[in-house]
Amino acid sequence: MIIKPKVRGFICITAHPQGCAANVRSQIEYVKSKGPLAAMPRRVLVIGASTGYGLASRIVTAFGGNAATIGVFFEKPAEEARTGSAGWYNSAAFESEAHAAGLYAKSLNGDAFSDAVKQQVIDLIKADLGQVDAVIYSLASPRRTHPRTGETFKSTLKPIGAPYTAKTVDTDKGIVSDITIEPASEQEIKDTTAVMGGEDWEMWIDALAHAGVLAPGALTVSYSYIGPKVTQAIYRNGTIGRAKEDLETTAARIGRKLALTGGRAFVSINKALVTQASSAIPVVPLYISLLYRIMKEKGLHEGCIEQIQRLFTERLANGASPQLDPEGRIRIDDLEMLPAIQGAVEKDWPAVTTENLSALTDIAGYRAEFLHLFGFGFKGVDYESETNPLVPVDFAGA
Ligand code: NAD
Repeated sequence: MIIKPKVRGFICITAHPQGCAANVRSQIEYVKSKGPLAAMPRRVLVIGASTGYGLASRIVTAFGGNAATIGVFFEKPAEEARTGSAGWYNSAAFESEAHAAGLYAKSLNGDAFSDAVKQQVIDLIKADLGQVDAVIYSLASPRRTHPRTGETFKSTLKPIGAPYTAKTVDTDKGIVSDITIEPASEQEIKDTTAVMGGEDWEMWIDALAHAGVLAPGALTVSYSYIGPKVTQAIYRNGTIGRAKEDLETTAARIGRKLALTGGRAFVSINKALVTQASSAIPVVPLYISLLYRIMKEKGLHEGCIEQIQRLFTERLANGASPQLDPEGRIRIDDLEMLPAIQGAVEKDWPAVTTENLSALTDIAGYRAEFLHLFGFGFKGVDYESETNPLVPVDFAGA
């Protein structure tokens, strides 16, 4: 079939296998261009490994640290008239590049929240690697079925306490308008925390430790976000922010458990970037478009791969120290949060309208990066040719 982007709201329902492979290769090239990293974990489990920050984490540990990697994700293969998901193609490409470089890489496609997938991962580690030295937890999901109760929780993106009105953009149509979002109920706050908080991360670490597959001195990292004043009501002070607070508290608890065997647990606060997860949050895409323009002008822009490369080179490996903030978190959102950057955001934010969107923000960069997520817009990929969407890969799991 000839595969073109089909954008529906904040999601693209098609993905291009060769384009996704080009995306993965360009991230690998970036990491290789920076040279090998010292004191990196050698056996790494990445949960949420197929797109965004998790994929970048897998690429940096594999190609910067020569690590054997196991990736866990929830992606769809192609079917008759439908392309596979971007994460499916990314992971197929990652495995093929890793194998060509002589690196161990295996993946499990299934629900990471389930006990069954945790057990499959434990069995795979026992069979192939013995233990893992690092666990990167990078899930972003709209729902979670609890493995013990069978209850399914849905996460919501809402303010807490009062309705919130703010400027947002329809990134597809380029229309800036105000939206009002009603506050979440107590139940919605709890449910969002059940999906995006720390419980599942801790369940993973407990299960791995109990099975004896966590190496002494193991490192675990999960990702969080704080962000600017303009998104505070919907993000950090909203339902997702509550879940992130829970994740951060969990890091401290996991850290105390791992310390008994010399291990460490961190939450890293990362930069706002275009990913499948962030494009679904109201207001955030407009902020990202403005942020990109300002950070690019100042030569400070980074994508997922640059962020995670810096996380390992300047915070977690290479002889670096994590440089924690007063709340015990790693901050690689340091450049985004610089007063000069946030001052410029606050100055320009009130002025953004539909008419000046292209001039005042980097909406073009936002759209290009959004299409990149699905493998579109890469040089050297022939988008006019017939492409076979079926990329057969032997990922384990359902
Ligand atoms: P993403 O949508 O690109 O990636 C999500 C990953 O989770 C994918 O690999 C997907 O397959 C996997 N996944 C989802 N549900 C799953 C399930 N049930 N079982 C197995 N795998 C599942 O998201 P992202 O933006 O890279 O987010 C990763 C983390 O980084 C999140 O915690 C997010 O809050 C955090 N973060 C994101 C940003 C940002 O701006 N994008 C900024 C800071 C922190």
